[in-house]
Amino acid sequence: MTQTAIIVGAGLGGLAAARALETAGWHVRVLEAALEVRAMGAGISITSNGLEALDELGVGDAVRERAVKARPEGVFTDQGTRLQQGFAHESSAVHAIHRGTLLEILRGDREVETGMRVVGAADASSGRPSVTIEHGAADPDSRDARSERQARADRSLGIKVGRRLQRALEPGDEPIDRRAERRATKQQVRSAAEGRFETLEADLIIGADGIDSAVRKALWPKAATDYSGATCWYGVLQAESDSPAGARQYLGRGAEFGMVPIDGGRVYWWGMAHARMGGHAPDELEAARERFDAWAPEVRDHIAATPQASITRRDLHWLATPLKTFHRPGVVLLGDAAHAMLPTLGQGGNLTFEDAATLGILLADHPLEQALRAYDSERIRRTDRFKQLSHRLAHTTTETRSPVLVAARNGVYNLMPAMLAEIAGDWMLHWRSPRAKR
Ligand SMILES: Cc1cc2nc3c(=O)[nH]c(=O)nc-3n(C[C@H](O)[C@H](O)[C@H](O)COP(=O)(O)OP(=O)(O)OC[C@H]3O[C@@H](n4cnc5c(N)ncnc54)[C@H](O)[C@@H]3O)c2cc1C
Repeated sequence: MTQTAIIVGAGLGGLAAARALETAGWHVRVLEAALEVRAMGAGISITSNGLEALDELGVGDAVRERAVKARPEGVFTDQGTRLQQGFAHESSAVHAIHRGTLLEILRGDREVETGMRVVGAADASSGRPSVTIEHGAADPDSRDARSERQARADRSLGIKVGRRLQRALEPGDEPIDRRAERRATKQQVRSAAEGRFETLEADLIIGADGIDSAVRKALWPKAATDYSGATCWYGVLQAESDSPAGARQYLGRGAEFGMVPIDGGRVYWWGMAHARMGGHAPDELEAARERFDAWAPEVRDHIAATPQASITRRDLHWLATPLKTFHRPGVVLLGDAAHAMLPTLGQGGNLTFEDAATLGILLADHPLEQALRAYDSERIRRTDRFKQLSHRLAHTTTETRSPVLVAARNGVYNLMPAMLAEIAGDWMLHWRSPRAKR
């Protein structure tokens, strides 16, 4: 009999997992909280390990065709002085692509059930694995409208209430647990009674719902995210006359800037800077312009030429608690839900593709629980290594603020030959399929 999976989240991880499981012969439902499948307005760099996983998922060639193959052009100071040569080795080239294009490729013509916000999950220890949906709940991406901190607090309250109500209610029942009823707001209890909460079951639940994962919060309640100390602006614009042909990185005091060409003759840039959490400006383009005002002319030009509508700001958080396992009976996490890391190494998405490809292969070849145990062995150590390294790297960029430390850091970059950096990167940039290890 065909096995069934519910995938929570239609981001890069959820759509990659849908491909992987369908290839393994599973029947899949993809639930997405937002009202449409959409990407944050930014690019993403895919390294060779991510591309190997995308090949396994059957979309590597489509990505190669649409993306721009960009060689790292080197590391520069904030004034544009070269600190490190670009990399020459073929494997260090990245495929840079707009996230919207990538989501489109991964999704294909797959049906995604939108407006389906998951607020709770249960594993197979007391019945079939399930998720609880809150129909008509606010889109979690509406964080632009409120401060991120408030959105986080609301979401975690919603999840707690959802869990309490799930415990208190059988589908269709009136609330019977008076204490749960008292703690929930009147509106939430009324909504539950009106059938706004629904429970869906499957053989496997996949939490691909990002850093604030509701699946993780329900079943790994102690795992906590942490603020990195840095915020990030990013934007997309049509290429300028001084746009680079490859990927460039600039390092300054407490800040880092990068840019890379992407599909459609566009350039994607990001600027990370030390900042207090939750800070927002009425005009984020102006705020980015001010923060990078004294930087190299090409940095300033690119920010200035960015259309107002295509700039986004996001505080950078990471999953500070290492998870000892990525699975519970009949439930598994992948992508940022499992190992959200800082973007300093540009690997969160690449590792997400590796997760999905690995899970698909293991589910095709083994019974469910055995496959989930093998998934832990394949994924935990590797992803944790990246997570820790990304965090340490942030100390040399956004957390390095004193001029003396900045000079010392720049000196180290200057002395480190590009070849060494490439060799150090070799373990990172290769995904080994579980099949290849047999
Ligand atoms: C500034 C920045 C730059 C980056 N650059 C790179 C890079 O160059 N290369 C790279 O490899 N990685 C990069 N990353 C990391 C990468 O973006 C993430 O690792 C990747 O997007 C994770 O994918 P995901 O599907 O796990 O999570 P997400 O992309 O967050 O997707 C989660 C999905 O789940 C949905 N969802 C959330 N909650 C619920 C719910 N309760 N119910 C139902 N649906 C829900 C969301 O709406 C969303 O669609 C970068 C990250 C940042 C912040």
